[in-house]
Amino acid sequence: MIEVKNYVLLPGYETNTWLVYDANSRQGILIDPAAPSDELLNQISELHLSISHIVNTHGHGDHIGGNSFFAEGLGALIAIHELDAPMLRDERRNFSIYFNTPIRSKAADQLLRDGDFISIGKHLLTVIHTPGHTPGGICLYHDRLLFSGDTLFEQSIGRTDLPGGSHDRIVQSIRHRLYILPDETVVYPGHGPKTSIRIEKRINPFVSGD
Ligand SMILES: [Zn+2]
Ligand SMILES: [Zn+2]
Repeated sequence: MIEVKNYVLLPGYETNTWLVYDANSRQGILIDPAAPSDELLNQISELHLSISHIVNTHGHGDHIGGNSFFAEGLGALIAIHELDAPMLRDERRNFSIYFNTPIRSKAADQLLRDGDFISIGKHLLTVIHTPGHTPGGICLYHDRLLFSGDTLFEQSIGRTDLPGGSHDRIVQSIRHRLYILPDETVVYPGHGPKTSIRIEKRINPFVSGD
């Protein structure tokens, strides 16, 4: 059974960090650690979890600020889509230099591509490449759970005005890669509250389901 816990580690950005683990094997991954947090590190240890990967849904500064801290503290590998990997080491490309403290993460240990799998115990999460917010944006899907990064939000979509963004591509990604998932799929986004594919297909004002 997969458990999902939410943490907001970066005040002002409200980026969702997701701790995802298998309650039986105690294996898990950490998605988008926004900032270092001793408290979260302690909780992971109290839960007796072994975290194999830190997965970044994309390379923006507000999703990678805790990478180095948690990679070291947990002995975990950093995984990101190959097209966003260069953003990790470059505070200009990840835009952190323009917004807050410049952020430079450790380099990626694993480069992801569409269709790759990340395992959590005996469960496999599928990497879905969803460009648009960034060129190498990904979502992770497993059995009616979707981690949608900054691609799909509750009644909204990720911004596409930053360099590398494309409105046409994000609409295509959502329509052709996410709206084909089962309606009852629960969506855990990079910002804001969770939602479902059914709800977004019906009422998302930016990308309709027809
Ligand atoms: Zn972003
Ligand atoms: Zn974000």
